[in-house]
Amino acid sequence: MTAYLPPGLPGFAHRSGRLAGESAFDVLAVVNRLRAEGRPIISFGIGEPDFPTPPNIVEAAKAALDAGMTRYGPSNGLPELREAIASDVSDTRGIAVDAEQVVVAPGTKPLIFYTIATLVNEGDEVLYPNPGFPTYESVTRWLGATPVPMPLTEASEFGCDRDALAAAMTPRTKLIIINSPNNPTGGVLAAVDLAFIAELAVQHNCWVLSDEIYSRLVFDGEFLSIASLPGMQDRTIIVDGFSKTFAMTGWRIGYGVMHPSLASAMARVETNVESCTATFTQVAAIEALRGPRDEPFRFAREFAARAEVVVNLLNGIPGIRCARPRGAFYAFPNVSGACKSLGFETADEFAHALLHEADVAVLPRSCFGARNTGETDEYFRLTFATSMEQIHEGIARIKAFVERGRQ
Ligand code: PMP
Repeated sequence: MTAYLPPGLPGFAHRSGRLAGESAFDVLAVVNRLRAEGRPIISFGIGEPDFPTPPNIVEAAKAALDAGMTRYGPSNGLPELREAIASDVSDTRGIAVDAEQVVVAPGTKPLIFYTIATLVNEGDEVLYPNPGFPTYESVTRWLGATPVPMPLTEASEFGCDRDALAAAMTPRTKLIIINSPNNPTGGVLAAVDLAFIAELAVQHNCWVLSDEIYSRLVFDGEFLSIASLPGMQDRTIIVDGFSKTFAMTGWRIGYGVMHPSLASAMARVETNVESCTATFTQVAAIEALRGPRDEPFRFAREFAARAEVVVNLLNGIPGIRCARPRGAFYAFPNVSGACKSLGFETADEFAHALLHEADVAVLPRSCFGARNTGETDEYFRLTFATSMEQIHEGIARIKAFVERGRQ
C-alpha cells in the first residue's frame, strides 16, 4: 500500500522518484507475511545463503565486542582488514594489490553506489548487464546519468553479446558494469568476452566496475577477473564482499579494490555517509579471510551440487527449459512454454500464481530490468541458496502446478 503525504507538506526531490526498489525485498516481505499467516511457503526468492555464518567468524566478532571494539574506525576500513583483503585479492586475481587500493564498506552495495556517484556525471552513459542486479540501473538513473542495457541472452549462454555491446558504446560511455558470475542468470563471462570488453574500455577510455561478489562460486574452472587483463587494473574497480561466500548477508560488509586516488575519493564519500563500517564486523571479516576455509569451501561445493539437481528437475517440467548455471546460486529458466500452456501472458503472472496458489516464491525476469529490444521469451529466477529438501519439494510443487493446469 502506498502511503500518501498529507497535503501541506513540501514535496520530495525530483530525483527520489528515479530510485527503484529491489523486488527481491518486496517479495521477501510478502513471503514473511504469508508465513506468519501459517502458509508453508518455499522461497526461491531472495539470494541469501541458507547456511549460518561459520562459528569461527561469529566467535571473532564476539571476542572483538568483549575487547571493547565498539568505537569508530577509519572510513576506508581497519588497516589489518585492508591488508588481508589486498593479499587475498592479489592471490585470487593474480594482480599486485596493496592496502591503499582497498576500501571497506557496509556491504558491496554501497560500493556500487559510491563508484557510480564518484565516476559518472549527469548525461554520461553507463552500460549495465540486463537482466542484471537492479541497483546498477537504478542508481545510475538516480544520479542523472543514462543507463544503457547490455543484453545477456540465452543464445549466448547469458555471457556476452559482443555485437550488441560494441553497438551500445558511444562517446558518452563512461562506465561499463559487469557481473560475472551473474545475478540472475548464473552466466559467466568467458575469457574472450572479458578480453573484448577490456579492449572496448581502453578504446573508449572508460572505467569498468566488476562486481565479483560471486567469484568464489564458479562451478567449472577458475574465476577470471577483468582486472588481471593487461592494462586493466587501473581502470577497473573490483567490488566483492562477505555476504555470499561466507554466509554473512546481515553483517553488512564488503570491499572495493581500485586505483589509490579513487580509493581516497571513495573514502571521502564514506566519511560523509557512514563514517565507517562497524569495527567488530571488520574483525570478523579478518577471521573470514585468514581463518580456516573449510566451511566456505563446503558451501561452494554444495551450491554446485544443488545447481545440477535444480537444472535436472526444472528440465523435467513441461514448458520449462533451463540452461546450466556456471556460477553463483541462481537458475534462470525459460518458462515461455509453461506460461503459454497455463494461459499466462508473462512470467510475472506465472510467479504471482505460483506464490498464491502453490506456495512457491520465485522472481520473474522483470525484477532484473525491462526486456531488451527483441526479447520475447519469459524467464524467472530461482535461487538455490536453500536446502536440497526445499529444492525437491518446491520444484515438485511447480511441476504439479504446471501439470494440473495442463489437464
Ligand atoms: N552484487 C550482486 C550481483 C548481488 O547479487 C548482491 C546481493 N544480492 C550484491 C551485490 C550486494 O551484496 P552485499 O550484501 O554485499 O551488499
